[in-house]
Amino acid sequence: MLDFLGNLTRTHYCGALRASDAGTNAIVMGWVHRRRDLGNLLFLDLRDRTGIVQVVFNKETQPAPHAKAEQARSEFVVAVEGNVIKRQKANPELATGEVELVATKLHILNNAKTPPFPVEDEINAAEETRLRYRYIDLRRVKPHRNIALRHKIVLEIRKVMDEMGFIEVETPMLTRSTPEGARDYLVPSRVHHGQFYALPQSPQIFKQILMIGGLDRYFQIVKCFRDEDLRADRQPEFTQLDLEMSFPRQQDIFEVIENVMVRACAVAGIKAERPFPHMKHADAIRLYGVDKPDLRLPPMTDVRGAFTAEQLARFKFRSDLPIQLIRTPNVGQLSRKEKEQLDQKIRDGYFQAAGGLLRSVWIHDFARLERDYPETTEKIRTIGQVVENDLLVLVGGVDRPEVAPQSLKAETVCGMAGLLRLDLAEHFRERHKAFERGDWKFAWITDFPLFEWSEKDKQWVSAQHPFTGIIEEDLDKLEQPERRGEIRSKGYDLVLNGNELGSGSIRIHRQDIQERLFKALGLTEEQQRRRFGFFLDALTYGTPPHGGIALGIDRIAMLLAGEKSLREVIAFPKTTAAQDLMAESPSSVDAPQEEELEIMAAYPLLTSHNWSLAGLCDRLWRVIERQTSGHDLPVDTSFQQAMSLILAKSHDDARAVIRLGKSGYGVQAAALSRSLIEAAINADYIQLRPEEHGWAFIRSLKDSNQRLAKRMKPHASTDEVHQLIKAAEDIQTESGWPRTLGQRADFLPKPNYLYDVAYFMVSQLIHSDIAATAGKLSEGNRTGQFKLQVGPSNEWVPQALATCFIALHEVAKVSFTAFRIDQSEFEPLASLFQKLTRDFETAGA
Ligand code: ASP
Repeated sequence: MLDFLGNLTRTHYCGALRASDAGTNAIVMGWVHRRRDLGNLLFLDLRDRTGIVQVVFNKETQPAPHAKAEQARSEFVVAVEGNVIKRQKANPELATGEVELVATKLHILNNAKTPPFPVEDEINAAEETRLRYRYIDLRRVKPHRNIALRHKIVLEIRKVMDEMGFIEVETPMLTRSTPEGARDYLVPSRVHHGQFYALPQSPQIFKQILMIGGLDRYFQIVKCFRDEDLRADRQPEFTQLDLEMSFPRQQDIFEVIENVMVRACAVAGIKAERPFPHMKHADAIRLYGVDKPDLRLPPMTDVRGAFTAEQLARFKFRSDLPIQLIRTPNVGQLSRKEKEQLDQKIRDGYFQAAGGLLRSVWIHDFARLERDYPETTEKIRTIGQVVENDLLVLVGGVDRPEVAPQSLKAETVCGMAGLLRLDLAEHFRERHKAFERGDWKFAWITDFPLFEWSEKDKQWVSAQHPFTGIIEEDLDKLEQPERRGEIRSKGYDLVLNGNELGSGSIRIHRQDIQERLFKALGLTEEQQRRRFGFFLDALTYGTPPHGGIALGIDRIAMLLAGEKSLREVIAFPKTTAAQDLMAESPSSVDAPQEEELEIMAAYPLLTSHNWSLAGLCDRLWRVIERQTSGHDLPVDTSFQQAMSLILAKSHDDARAVIRLGKSGYGVQAAALSRSLIEAAINADYIQLRPEEHGWAFIRSLKDSNQRLAKRMKPHASTDEVHQLIKAAEDIQTESGWPRTLGQRADFLPKPNYLYDVAYFMVSQLIHSDIAATAGKLSEGNRTGQFKLQVGPSNEWVPQALATCFIALHEVAKVSFTAFRIDQSEFEPLASLFQKLTRDFETAGA
């Protein structure tokens, strides 16, 4: 039996009890962390957010609570009333270790299943299990501590921003695409068919518009969504400190952020030094090989100058490319095994990856090098500022006749050497200990190139987002395609210990320049208008110079908490496969929701005419559904029986046609609507003589395997099979149901177009003339090639939907007659349909 909380009031948190509380009464509440039963004495360790306290149940003095405590198990939720006493022997492991609570009353408020893993500081449960049972994982000390720290950091950031005159403004989550270089998460609109909201990749455009709106200093702690390829250190939704200010110099923004970061670090007990150093992007690449340098270890140096031409030739180093010296401090002597491992790492790991274009020398025997090449060694020492116990590795371009010089660039040499530098630093972290010292090396990276060359798209693309300002002297190069790679932006990044914390820029604030940039990116005027029209307009109404930045809150919290994974500082994180294992998202949706949203319509852009047609089909389908589905319908007559069969199948077929049509699968929708035509012709044919034809229809269906038998005919060989087939055919002939669709259609009052439509469609779809294949074939990349398209293609959508409407309407009319259901709802739909098709024909003509 469980107890109720009633009016019971907690007096202390578990973790708060101290020696000074001895002698008082206390009521604590929490989870049973551990239970130890020593017979007369039973101990429960009770846990809440603040820590653990030991509770004692004494069988002799308090038999009732003791008996109750015997029922308690791990993770039961309980309240304990008792007296705080000093322990005879303190437990130094616990903050509450000097006291314990002698229970006078135990309330078991809830029981618990055995958890999938124990709630301990150190657990070895797989991360997957932890994420699936996140609520149990969250009970542990570390997640609590991390989440609380994150809270404190965010709180402090809000305070600092407020102190500096920034105003927090919320920007929409349901919005349109903002280009940050990732894919959008899209939300289909229920009200506006075929239209979508995009979840923001960032509030970039809105914050710029806030500056146009005169807000002057904006900030926001905001969720952003980017559908990017999976990577260990990314979350599809993440939190940014986003800010923007008007009339800023770059230095003003740096000062704001340095203030924020120093204060945020202080919350975590970390002392960060301002001002942060600045480094140009080109220097970061040259010295560290990356744009987010880790300054805790020495930079690389180009020691090309230490070698004579003859030595370079002998070592097969290219003289026109840097020879990067990587120094890893305090590595000292290596064992033979370590040397072998290192050899392999450098050879296989790096120089294989560079396609054999690089060459590296690992100087493990400096003494020998010194003996053979004393001068060179001395120069390397001086240029590279080598000190005792440094591990030295040289990386340069390989000089071999078969390697074309242009296949290797200086940035590639630096980039690969930079990766190796970090890898060596990680490998020898125990020796150099630079990562343990608690150094917090911030830096600003500036002077980024505005564009990057995209091999994939074969064009220049924005290195950051396309609103990034351009250094004035470089503006003219926008119109000189061959010089676009030289243009410098007004962008900057903040880095910390090899991590990018965020990036920002002084923006383009003039509409003429923004348009020139879009043009340089290859956007036509029409595309510019369609995607950014509202923003380009806003720029023309008096836009102040402005700039800003966004920092990754998750990453900052991770680093300040000393964690290696973002998931450790997010309450409900997603896996690297972008899933929430606890909530099991993403997930498929329930049918009605899917129907409303027509999520599949994410692909094609259907014309408004097609959407209207689909809407009419939907309404017709729903009338039928509402009037027939789930109701008892009479089937007293053959007519009714036959129509119930035809109606049921048409209902399903029509639904499929409408869905396929909306999703742009026009060809498939059209093929399926042929089955609806057959149903309509059958319905009309049955209605000619309801009882007689209805009965014939049912008889012909009864032995549907007869048709199967017929298909076997060409393969049949024995007499017996022949006889069976003949018998089956006789039954069908006797049923009186005309064998072909054409025969049935012939009976119907003329003119009846349905048969002609079916005939036309089938021949278009089956016969491989150009018209029939138009929806599936398009020209490939090269002339003389064709591409077969099996996915969405809007060809045939109007035919399919119009046919669906007409045929379903026919079937419904006849069925409703059979069941004596009121038909008045069809009338307005039919006239709407006629009007729509008339408008369409007029527009098309
Ligand atoms: N919108 C940018 C981002 O999310 C930051 C900025 O330019 O302010 O990376």
